[in-house]
Amino acid sequence: MICALPQRVPPLPVEYLGGCFRGLHFCLVEMSALSDKRAMRLVLKIAKPVFDYALPERCPSCGAISTDGTNFCAGCWLQIRFLNPPWCESCALPFDYERSAGARCAACLADPPRHDGIRAAVAYDSLTRTIALRLKYGGRIGLAKLIARHLARHLPADRTGVIVVPVPLHWTRLWSRSFNQSALIAQELARLGGLGYAPDMLLRTKRTPSLRRLSAKERRKAVAKVFRTNPAKAHLLSGKRIILVDDVLTTGATSDGCIKTLKKAGASWVQLFCWARALRDDGHATPIFDAGDA
Ligand SMILES: [Zn+2]
Ligand SMILES: [Zn+2]
Repeated sequence: MICALPQRVPPLPVEYLGGCFRGLHFCLVEMSALSDKRAMRLVLKIAKPVFDYALPERCPSCGAISTDGTNFCAGCWLQIRFLNPPWCESCALPFDYERSAGARCAACLADPPRHDGIRAAVAYDSLTRTIALRLKYGGRIGLAKLIARHLARHLPADRTGVIVVPVPLHWTRLWSRSFNQSALIAQELARLGGLGYAPDMLLRTKRTPSLRRLSAKERRKAVAKVFRTNPAKAHLLSGKRIILVDDVLTTGATSDGCIKTLKKAGASWVQLFCWARALRDDGHATPIFDAGDA
């Protein structure tokens, strides 16, 4: 006789979850009243497997249950192009073959960029664009932690005195959106790397219009003189190394405006970290005109 064994035990029925949540809530309230953080941590540790079982981690792209601890399901993971060396030391343009450490591409040699390197976690495509948009417009702020974890592998070995600074939003946009997606990524990246974090080092003085349909030249014009350093913090920049964080690298006009401002104020080294950047099929960097900005 052939017995069909279940491949996976089904998640707990919803009615059981209410009891679990009430029990955990009661324990946490009691522990909080006693200010016993060690006991709170213990309760959360014990309860975690229950919630992991009942509410399994799901792929942030397609929603499938992800069980291998990579966040993305296997199908999405295979679709994503994670960016790694060998690449141009400056713009991180992927090389087709291994080159000596510190090698730069022809474009960076011919016209050295203002920045001191670009570090993007993934190549820009419809899947990685969805992740960025869900964070930015969908309010899925937990995705900032996921992005920061993927960026953390590109942090420099020598992190002495490095400060993480996000590309700022204009205060009106921050007020309407209630969070700055770049700041959320920057904060988590700083925590993971044990780095300084200065969310208000840069200020955006003008509310720029949507840059989606503008050319690279028009974008540069739109963000010119939009950024300035915070007068209360600018003195901290002298000689400092800065990691500037943005969500998606578009034409580079916005980040270039920020880097120009940071260097003018005395920063000695500015590297740009972002979730996704566009690459053509031949591997060359290319501007993105539809990802949105600000
Ligand atoms: Zn998936
Ligand atoms: Zn380059």
